[in-house]
Amino acid sequence: MSKTPLMPVEDALYQLLGMANEQRLADSELLALDDARGRVLASDLVATLDLPPWPNSAMDGYALNLADLHRQPLKVSQKVYAGQAPDTLLPGTCARIFTGAPLPPGATCVEMQENVEVLEDGRVRFLQPLKAGQNIRAQGQENRVGDILLRAGKRLGPFELAVAAGQGLAQLHVVRRPRVALLSTGDELVEPGQPLRPGSIYNSNRVLLGHWLRELGCEVIDAGILPDRPAQTRLKLEQLQVSADLILTTGGVSAGDADCLGQVLRDSGKPLLWKLAIKPGKPLTVGHFGTVPVIGLPGNPTSALVTFGLLARPYLLRIQGVEDVMPLSFMVNAGFDWHKPGSRREYLRVKLEAGRAMLYPNQSSGVLLGATWADGLVEIPENSTHNLGDPLRFIPFNELF
Ligand code: AMP
Ligand code: MG
Repeated sequence: MSKTPLMPVEDALYQLLGMANEQRLADSELLALDDARGRVLASDLVATLDLPPWPNSAMDGYALNLADLHRQPLKVSQKVYAGQAPDTLLPGTCARIFTGAPLPPGATCVEMQENVEVLEDGRVRFLQPLKAGQNIRAQGQENRVGDILLRAGKRLGPFELAVAAGQGLAQLHVVRRPRVALLSTGDELVEPGQPLRPGSIYNSNRVLLGHWLRELGCEVIDAGILPDRPAQTRLKLEQLQVSADLILTTGGVSAGDADCLGQVLRDSGKPLLWKLAIKPGKPLTVGHFGTVPVIGLPGNPTSALVTFGLLARPYLLRIQGVEDVMPLSFMVNAGFDWHKPGSRREYLRVKLEAGRAMLYPNQSSGVLLGATWADGLVEIPENSTHNLGDPLRFIPFNELF
């Protein structure tokens, strides 16, 4: 075993984000809102409309000019539904008005219908004290023309897309998809649906990472399974580098399988980042093949999960222009004792129960099932021990998508 010091997780992240900053994707495409979910906005979204575009009623009720209140009961001179254009309010009258309907010019407040008495002759008496502006949504109270609503680099989810829709936009300019070649390495791997050979296992990483990449806005180039042979690995990377922005591999990075990918990347002459102080995931390897970045994740599914989520994910978001690439995390109390200090930062699969992080019983990096049970990862800092109830940082899994 080599005694190279392990690289702290922050240093690896810093270097990866540095690489990503140099590799930011410049091209964009125009997409319909329905197709833009999970993509990254390519240019600032500037408001071309005041919202609301005109003052409107926040209630079903009656609109009046407060100056007319002393003349009540007031006659109802018009009815305004949402979607209609009102007339100017006749002096000494009120208007029947419904939620979202434009306020008639001249009206200064709206009273909700529950607080009025409608007389037999149809006139309206106001039963409660009234205030100017009440129950009126002012023009531009959400935004004004010219406001920057969303900045370039914003990831688009339902909220952001709805804001664009509110401005009348049917399409948005988004950063083009990163093209990620996904390669599983390992002589033992067989694709699901195929018969299992003696000594073989099914390839779960391709499905895990394929879906995750697409969630992050990437186009996946499925490069299949590769045996553990440096010559074949080199050949495959040569093919993939033509079309890929990133080559993402699993397996073949630990010393045990002859570090097949590491051997090939070392030849490229660019510095290699590997052996991280992270558990699971120590053998993560980052380098270049030609000019194309390569991230080599460890083969154990949980190691691949942790290193992809904490390191490859921020990289993939940053090349799309996202600034804020770190998952939201918060402190929770340990639901366990931890008396095994380690030189690597450890990420454990946990479920939150009454605010406490409960450990999945089997934390082996080969066990993927724990991730389906867990709500997220809890972080055990290097060289630390913890008692039941101690605060630990928790990263919810849904923050990693
Ligand atoms: P490696 O990083 O290649 O040394 O692999 C570490 C462990 O993960 C071995 O037990 C492999 O069989 C397993 N493994 C590697 N690749 C995959 C994969 N794509 N799906 C499931 N298990 C894998
Ligand atoms: Mg292997």
